[in-house]
Amino acid sequence: MQVIKDNWHAGGGISLAPNGMRVLSRLGLTEQLAGQVGEELLDFNLLGSEGETIVSFKQRSRERYGHPAVGFRRYRLRAALLEAARREPGVTIHTGHRLVSLDCGEAAASAAAATGSSSSTSSVASSAAGPRPATLVFENGASFTADLVVGCDGIRSRVRAAVRGADEPPPSYTGTEEVICITRGRNEDLVPPSGLNLILGTGPRQFGTYGVGPEVMWFASRRRPESRDSWGAVKTPQEQEAVRRELLEEFKGWTLVEQLVQRDVDIMMRVGIYDRPPVSSWVRGVVTLAGDAASPIPPNLGQGGNKALEDAGVLVECIRRFRGDVPAALQLYQRLRVPRAAALLGDTRKGGEVSGLDSPLFIAVRNALLRAFVGVTGGLPLGWLWSYDTKKVVREARL
Ligand SMILES: Cc1cc2nc3c(=O)[nH]c(=O)nc-3n(C[C@H](O)[C@H](O)[C@H](O)COP(=O)(O)OP(=O)(O)OC[C@H]3O[C@@H](n4cnc5c(N)ncnc54)[C@H](O)[C@@H]3O)c2cc1C
Repeated sequence: MQVIKDNWHAGGGISLAPNGMRVLSRLGLTEQLAGQVGEELLDFNLLGSEGETIVSFKQRSRERYGHPAVGFRRYRLRAALLEAARREPGVTIHTGHRLVSLDCGEAAASAAAATGSSSSTSSVASSAAGPRPATLVFENGASFTADLVVGCDGIRSRVRAAVRGADEPPPSYTGTEEVICITRGRNEDLVPPSGLNLILGTGPRQFGTYGVGPEVMWFASRRRPESRDSWGAVKTPQEQEAVRRELLEEFKGWTLVEQLVQRDVDIMMRVGIYDRPPVSSWVRGVVTLAGDAASPIPPNLGQGGNKALEDAGVLVECIRRFRGDVPAALQLYQRLRVPRAAALLGDTRKGGEVSGLDSPLFIAVRNALLRAFVGVTGGLPLGWLWSYDTKKVVREARL
């Protein structure tokens, strides 16, 4: 794990949906996370570019899915999870270690899987040759062997290169950049103060705000010819002013956004959105991938972090189900997670298209359909995402 030096300025916010919170509830953290670490997102408001309501409803996430939706500052969520991990018996956390090389401990029988000859629906069987431990080498000279390695080292994962081979292509830029701001002001005169507000107008742009504890995060997503995937702080008042001018130009005529971007902010940053096409193999030897290292999901539906938690939840249950037989557990994990990640990516991309429509006619039809759907069901069509239960999925998987 690497170290972050400046907590308050580290990353922006993240919203976790009931599918992610369901995994964290197994650590007994729900009330601490929803009540103290983050902010429960009780309402959802979809607004038009001038602030007119398209749909507005109480999410009733606890009632409908058994778990809340919560907005967080990333650094606070991370600190709470680290503290919880440290309380677990037998857990040691080594910070300040940057992985530079990895031998996956590949046994003969699993080499074929890593090179792609295993399909995502392959049956579960232990490696005949038995697993060899993996060896990890870090930049500071430290070296470890491990019976299981979970590569959750992000979109430019080093572990992924070891699992998938050196010719694995890098992630590609989606053409969308987000400007993210953290502000202590709630802007209650402009947007509803609690919950998640999404503002849509015409074209591939969107603007959103949600509570992350004492602060609110807002994000503006728009097309840019190029952008880096690291979260770059926009520090000086002059740089911030230049970004505001860009946004005012790009969101011209979105009167609500024009007002919001001119309000004071405490932190401003920008990040390019990158993704990768889905792949069918996440495992090599005793090493597997999870989170963005396995399958980054652009933030249109706010599901990348939730998917990472689902990955973790399913992996734990697979290891339990196979009582520590790592190769068998990893095969079931891959079989269950590869299609789910591909479906999440597919829906996220579709979500981006639906929210970024250009034609006034299509926009009117979309809004009418959303109103009708919310009128009948009381929420957005996200049930298949939010009801995912890692325990149930593993328990019900046929071997
Ligand atoms: C603008 C934006 C908004 C988003 N909003 C949401 C949202 O609202 N909800 C949601 O669910 N998802 C959201 N996501 C997606 C979410 O942020 C990611 O999917 C999630 O952070 C992935 O977690 P991860 O642990 O896999 O990777 P990361 O969060 O990238 O963590 C990777 C970790 O690995 C470490 N690392 C990297 N390389 C090495 C190495 N060589 N050695 C050791 N350590 C290493 C890094 O320091 C880091 O700590 C958003 C993404 C973006 C870009």
